[in-house]
Amino acid sequence: MPMPYYVLAYYHFTPLENPREEVLSHQKFFQDRDVSSRIYLSEQGINGQMSASEKDAEAYMNWLHAKPHFATVEFKLHTHHEHVFPRKSVKYRKNLVAYDKAVNLALQGEHVSPRKWREMLENPERKILIDVRNDYEWKVGHFENAELPPCETFREFENYSDRLKEQVDPQKTPVMMYCTGGIRCELYSSILKEKGFEKVYQLHGGVINYGLQEGSSHWKGKLFVFDDRMTVPISEEEAEVIGKCHHCGTAADSYYNCANMDCNHLFICCADCLHQLAGCCKEPCKNAPRVRPYHHQNPHKPFRKWHHYFTEKNT
Ligand SMILES: [Zn+2]
Ligand SMILES: [Zn+2]
Repeated sequence: MPMPYYVLAYYHFTPLENPREEVLSHQKFFQDRDVSSRIYLSEQGINGQMSASEKDAEAYMNWLHAKPHFATVEFKLHTHHEHVFPRKSVKYRKNLVAYDKAVNLALQGEHVSPRKWREMLENPERKILIDVRNDYEWKVGHFENAELPPCETFREFENYSDRLKEQVDPQKTPVMMYCTGGIRCELYSSILKEKGFEKVYQLHGGVINYGLQEGSSHWKGKLFVFDDRMTVPISEEEAEVIGKCHHCGTAADSYYNCANMDCNHLFICCADCLHQLAGCCKEPCKNAPRVRPYHHQNPHKPFRKWHHYFTEKNT
């Protein structure tokens, strides 16, 4: 089956003097193009996710690469049968990744390629492997033997780092860290460096890049993504289902937002329960005043107001 759309994920830290001008330039470029997007620009650079027809995806990548600030942007490419966002959104944002504290971005872990990451995973040497995503992302998929430290806020992550420092030798123990596309690691690795950890490694390009280059080895389940697809396999290799239906507990890895718009809870659900509850997270939600109509054939589309149900930390 043809997959007519490219899905692009990318970020690039580069000082921009006038990010708002870049927002306008993007908007103008997208005007007559077959594109859907969620792109942020700030004085720190760009963080983008978008889908586009093959032609417009190629035109965009060339256009962006022609700008001196963005000449080295790395695009991670998937394909999908339709657009993954409801509209073309390009916005200014103060911080590329929302965080509640000043972080020294110059301090970073060492970026390691997917191949090296895999070799490190296979090396029996003692190491700490941490997932710096949210628990709802972790639930449908993560690397084998990874830990999920509390990182809803930077304070929590700092406390975790302090405890970790007491348990291992921060100068000798390697800490490997990953997230979806790599951008969150830029921040979290700098916290570990500030705390005195010396061997901090971050997966270059995140799980998306790993799946594209190394397939699914050492990965279990699916990858949560912040667009209409909700979850994607990381490669074409078969992967076991590690999520569980919120209602009946059977293996499931599809996420839904409760059809009751005033609830909007994000939950994993099997097809049977979803049908029985008409897309709701619990029985009482079915009778709430504002329930979205349930479409059995396409129940996946997330409710549009992302900020209502995602924490500050998402990318
Ligand atoms: Zn179920
Ligand atoms: Zn609900």
